[in-house]
Amino acid sequence: MSFFEYKDIIEEGDLVLAFLGRNNIKPITVTKGSQLNTRYGNFEHDRMIGMKYGEQMPGARGVGFIHLLYPTPELWTVSLPHRTQIVYTTDSSYIIQRLNVTSGSRIIEAGTGSGSFSHSFARTVGLEGRLFTYEFHEPRYIEARKELEDHGLLANTIITHRDVCNDGFEIQNIPEDFQKNGGICGDVVFLDLPSPWTAIPNLKNVISHESRVGICCFSPCIEQVEKTVKALEAEGWTNIEMVEVAGRRWEARKDMVKDVKDVVKRLKDIQTRKHQGIEHRKNSKNHNVGDKRDIKDVETADDSTPEPTKFQNLGKGFNPFGKGLRVREGDEQFQWRNVTKIETEIKSHTSYLTFAYMNPNVRLNNSV
Ligand code: SAM
Repeated sequence: MSFFEYKDIIEEGDLVLAFLGRNNIKPITVTKGSQLNTRYGNFEHDRMIGMKYGEQMPGARGVGFIHLLYPTPELWTVSLPHRTQIVYTTDSSYIIQRLNVTSGSRIIEAGTGSGSFSHSFARTVGLEGRLFTYEFHEPRYIEARKELEDHGLLANTIITHRDVCNDGFEIQNIPEDFQKNGGICGDVVFLDLPSPWTAIPNLKNVISHESRVGICCFSPCIEQVEKTVKALEAEGWTNIEMVEVAGRRWEARKDMVKDVKDVVKRLKDIQTRKHQGIEHRKNSKNHNVGDKRDIKDVETADDSTPEPTKFQNLGKGFNPFGKGLRVREGDEQFQWRNVTKIETEIKSHTSYLTFAYMNPNVRLNNSV
């Protein structure tokens, strides 16, 4: 399998994302003789070979099932082994479209971390584009490199073990098919580092001279954003803007319009029922705690029923305030207004995104 293309049939050695539930996706490399043990049953890898990606797989004894999904960067992001904080699709998709990352783009990324965003970048730029990603933590670098290799992404990606703040981004002996104008010549930069402002001055010699270059710095604190903005300004980056991506789910529905008259009637009705209940308890000779009262004992006068024009088809006893007969949302016999409501916040904010651009003429004047 490869993150660059799709295939139908699962073979030995393929990466499969076993979908157990929305928040439970397990990446597995299909290996003869192995099995995936879950609370939904056991799933032998041997049976996966020859099945189609996307298919539902029943458990060993026909109990429970999982789905075998084809890996995409979006699914990988929610299933990968975390070695660091990662960039999720809510942010990465926004950054990719805002910086106009497309097939053929040349990306500079630091640090690689768990490789979550690296997968999205590598897939999006495709085999025509290039990704230069840097990680200074050696064990993380080794793991990310192996993962990129296993996923076929070294076809367009170079991962470098480097401290970009102290040692910059330049690479010696770049393979020819990765070079442009003899170097990296990046047209998009993404920095997810604790101190991006110390790496920004090092970008001069690795970004494109010919085209407009976009940068995004991903920082969790506003103090970091302030330092980043100062460094960007000092280096001649323009159009600086900070964005926060906060996911919200909106619910749109109809709300019944109720007359004040109806509300007053309803309040009177409640008071009358309450009063009748108290009287009934006082007067009842045979009253025992827990006795059920007959509904006719607390029936209210006819004038407590709502407007006959609105409720004529619904019969006596209809209550527009929720109890009693149910009204279908949007029922034409009633007046409605459209309302929207924010549902519980989706957890999406992880950082502030600071965007800026470098125009080629500024870049040339600033170069050393
Ligand atoms: N964006 C990544 C992802 O989506 O998986 C996560 C990046 S993680 C938050 C930050 C990474 O930057 C860490 O792995 C850290 O080791 C690395 N890092 C920090 N300072 C660095 C530096 N000066 N040079 C290179 N990498 C650095």
